[in-house]
Amino acid sequence: MIPWLVQPHRTEPKILEWAERYSERAYLDIVRLRNHTAYALTVTDRSRPDEAKKKSLFAVPHAHEPAGTAACMNILGELLDGCDLAGNPTALDREAMLASTLLTFIPDANPEGRSRAPVEMWDGSRFTNDEFLKYAFGIDGATGERFKRVDRWSAREERPSRIGIVYERIDETTYVEPNRDWGSSFFRLAHRLMDRWPYDQFIDLHQTEFENSPYNCMIILPVSWRTLPEPICAYSRAWADDITRAWGEMDGASPHQPEVLGYTGQQRAYFEERWGRLHSLCPIITTEIQNNNPRTPPDLQRQLQETALRISIERISASA
Ligand SMILES: [Zn+2]
Repeated sequence: MIPWLVQPHRTEPKILEWAERYSERAYLDIVRLRNHTAYALTVTDRSRPDEAKKKSLFAVPHAHEPAGTAACMNILGELLDGCDLAGNPTALDREAMLASTLLTFIPDANPEGRSRAPVEMWDGSRFTNDEFLKYAFGIDGATGERFKRVDRWSAREERPSRIGIVYERIDETTYVEPNRDWGSSFFRLAHRLMDRWPYDQFIDLHQTEFENSPYNCMIILPVSWRTLPEPICAYSRAWADDITRAWGEMDGASPHQPEVLGYTGQQRAYFEERWGRLHSLCPIITTEIQNNNPRTPPDLQRQLQETALRISIERISASA
């Protein structure tokens, strides 16, 4: 099995080692919190002008969804070291890719939350989905039920008996949901990077439980789909179809066809407000890979995320 690098004490030294060793092929961006640092590592041949390159952003906002982190770390090894984390030579045409593309990875946008996870991988053997979700979102101190999912909350007003690992503590008392609040390390990095480089595509790597569903992977299209410019929709649809097709050829994969994010109410409002501008800048799609279910073991979770990364890199490289 490929080494599973998802906890900050394992990802951080590796990212810093790559940034230092491959200074001609990497840019490092950081957001420093009190006890943790979130990293974005951009790989490209820096001796060639960035303007002409096709650009892609890959990010993992959620601490309870570690397979995207494992996949980003493995692909970064292939692109920079020329071999995966187990030492197998890469099949990627990496010199051509580094010359013609600029690829930014945010392998773990919430190391503070991730460091509070009770396990490194959710394989479905130890926790029911209800127990898993009480780790993900926390436990309400008053009711003993799963804590609410909001963009931010304050420890001055709330007393959860367990703090969900999805939340990122950004100061003494404030916790934010990375994918839903601009104060998160995730949005701070994404905004900084998207202001610097006009990305051609952005893939947000997520996981969900697929409870009572025969499927274990799918691409989600933006909630604002009907209002997006036609070229962005056409690009996103073809890209999503390519990934879904590649999943269909993998052992153990049961891909659902791509679908528009179906949120309503407050959750929809978060996405429309916080993501609206970004969705109009470039095609943005989301992976959802099954989490916490024996049907999709951790190594398969990683492989499914990695296939989405690989297809995305190959597509953009071929168009460069
Ligand atoms: Zn997620």
